[in-house]
Amino acid sequence: MSKKTPQAIRGTQDIFGADAEAFAYVVETFERVRRLYRFRRVEMPVFEKTEVFARSLGETTDVVSKEMYSFDDRGGESLTLRPEFTAGIARAFLTNGWQQYAPLKVATHGPLFRYERPQKGRYRQFHQIDAEVIGAGEPQADVELLAMADQLLKELGIHDVTLHLNTLGDGASREAWRAALIEYFRAVKDQLSEESQERLEKNPLRILDSKDARDKPFLADAPKIDAFLSDEASAFFAAVTSGLDAAGVKWVRAESLVRGLDYYRHTAFEFIPDEGSASAAALGSQSTVLGGGRYDGLMESLGGAPTPAVGWAAGIERLAMLVGAREEEPLEAMVLLEDDAGLAAAVALLADLRNGGVVAEMIATGSPKKRYDKAVKQQPRAILRVNADGYYGFSGDELDPKLAAILQARI
Ligand code: ATP
Ligand code: MG
Repeated sequence: MSKKTPQAIRGTQDIFGADAEAFAYVVETFERVRRLYRFRRVEMPVFEKTEVFARSLGETTDVVSKEMYSFDDRGGESLTLRPEFTAGIARAFLTNGWQQYAPLKVATHGPLFRYERPQKGRYRQFHQIDAEVIGAGEPQADVELLAMADQLLKELGIHDVTLHLNTLGDGASREAWRAALIEYFRAVKDQLSEESQERLEKNPLRILDSKDARDKPFLADAPKIDAFLSDEASAFFAAVTSGLDAAGVKWVRAESLVRGLDYYRHTAFEFIPDEGSASAAALGSQSTVLGGGRYDGLMESLGGAPTPAVGWAAGIERLAMLVGAREEEPLEAMVLLEDDAGLAAAVALLADLRNGGVVAEMIATGSPKKRYDKAVKQQPRAILRVNADGYYGFSGDELDPKLAAILQARI
């Protein structure tokens, strides 16, 4: 057997300490905020039949064509580690007859897997928080979902990230826009990047997303969706924007914002750090923290009845980078056992402290002379001294009332 220690898989992370605290803080804040909006918790499988993603996302998308972790299981069935939540939640909605709960507001979080080129803010296993409203076709659903995203960012202390908003119109508007984009880009096809040339017939909206310098000169003058919007689609978008204004959510129009996945209709959005802001500096080139939109076409692509829906997902790692490293829980009390004969008393005191909601630890090993220094090193607010007769006094600042009450009760 090899003596070499195994390495972690490329693009995975072992998150520890202050970074893990930031990660937990993002999830805890999300859990709190989603309750305010009455989004119900769902737990989803980490893998699905490959067709769940292939049919929902579309074969031409980056995720399906290049990024999925798919494999045949021992029974010969093709399975895929989920690259996103929405498709699996839509599958579950159909499998379990969750239509009965519509409009259904659900939230979840957990790991996702994409075979990408790992770099800062981009991993092969990453984590998202996710919120979906299924079975609601009215613009107010979009407004509520976006208000929740906005509140979450603020409660995380992130104030320099703004909602960039677009509409892709209804099916007919989107088709007309798509055709105009194909015509426009076909005229300059030879000058586009290879990737955009490939996208031209299959997924021309994605060219607007291109970061390639060869494509950029043609993006500004590309046809805009507004010229193709039906009256219904315009009215829908106007209702979303006026709802956002009423809810106090700041937004900017982003005419060339498209989402990578085929199933989007109407509202499409991303939260992006403001130029030159601290968040922009923290994220570097992986700048989108939260993205989503309306996916009215998805349920049908999975064989279900037409079901309007809207949702978003945000990368927990990217949000944690914006939150910054967070301190672990401060140590309120350190029980210092100075004489081993007092061990039982020290253990009983420690139990009382923790039962009383005090963050506490104990030092009861090593040479008695060195224990005090070890205790000080952990910077507790108070050191509670225990000798053979039990607790007899403390060092540190004045005792916190909660702690004082527990000690009082023991005397
Ligand atoms: P990008 O353009 O950055 O590839 P995307 O459009 O693929 O993003 P979505 O599928 O919309 O991203 O996922 C929503 C969010 O999940 C992103 O805004 C980002 O915060 C996060 N995310 C997506 N892919 C990764 C990844 N590989 N590593 C870390 N976070 C990711
Ligand atoms: Mg991506």
